[in-house]
Amino acid sequence: MWSTSKTPGRHARHGRGGGALLRVLRTIDDVRQQTREWRDAGSSIGCVMTMGALHGGHLSLVDAARKECEKAILTLFVNPIQFGPDEDFDRYPRTEEADFRALAERSCDAVFAPSTRTIFPAGERSLGDVRTRVVVRRLTEVLCGRHRPGHFDGVTTEVHLMLRLVDCDRTYWGEKDYQQYAVIRAMAEDLALPVGVVPCPTVRDSDGLALSSRNTYLDAAQRAIAPTLYAELRRGARRIAEGGAAIAGPTKTDIAARLLASGFDRVEYVEVHTRELGPVRADTPVADLRVFAAVRLGGARLIDNVAVAEVDR
Ligand code: AMP
Repeated sequence: MWSTSKTPGRHARHGRGGGALLRVLRTIDDVRQQTREWRDAGSSIGCVMTMGALHGGHLSLVDAARKECEKAILTLFVNPIQFGPDEDFDRYPRTEEADFRALAERSCDAVFAPSTRTIFPAGERSLGDVRTRVVVRRLTEVLCGRHRPGHFDGVTTEVHLMLRLVDCDRTYWGEKDYQQYAVIRAMAEDLALPVGVVPCPTVRDSDGLALSSRNTYLDAAQRAIAPTLYAELRRGARRIAEGGAAIAGPTKTDIAARLLASGFDRVEYVEVHTRELGPVRADTPVADLRVFAAVRLGGARLIDNVAVAEVDR
């Protein structure tokens, strides 16, 4: 259905009938030329960075970019250097044709879908192979950072590079991966990158499960257990809203016990932090707190988080 140009500097266009056209960009020259063209025409540019296997969460970021910027571009790249040696890089879902179709339907202007070799021409396949790294300290030493060594260094190294390739005014990130958003915002601030880092709300299925490309790893029985993660985070957040920051400790223990009782195989962590990912003190205002968890269920690692300010008392 789609045809992609193999000629550097030329773009394939994807779309149905008279509908929206999606430019498919494969090379660095392609993406630089496209953004330069938009800039020359005076357009603002919003960028959404993803690993593909697109779902409603990713597409909500495209909608946000389109609303705030004149041109929207999505990057689709399964970043090898953010995966640990025992993680799911090889089996990560790759659904490029369906992704392009969804982007065309959503009126996204362009997709940058480079090969691994384009981004890592020296053949880097893991963080250990990378010569120049971008490392954000402290924020990466809590939550997922403690359980996935090097993960965020792989993210920031690649996102920084992508931001050098895709000239954009604003970049949009899901609060589902709240720590990732916080780390990228910190990187942009510390390196004075001329880009706004915009958080967007988590998109969920009707039963509350946060949409995730990794939900495809769940079988039917596991899929039925999965929404409990959000339900228990909300329950805990409501408790903290009522009881104050002083009960954050016992609430974490309670959430973890209830998650295990619900059928999750393992609770990697349940944590409460401020929105800057700092520690909780007894006098921290509850409106500044978020509750975070990571669990294992079958072959999937699921993460979610809830702002205490967002739950009803
Ligand atoms: P990924 O390709 O899954 O690494 O995610 C790419 C971007 O989409 C990141 O900014 C994620 O936080 C965001 N994202 C993923 N899932 C959701 C969701 N359910 N709701 C909102 N944003 C999401």
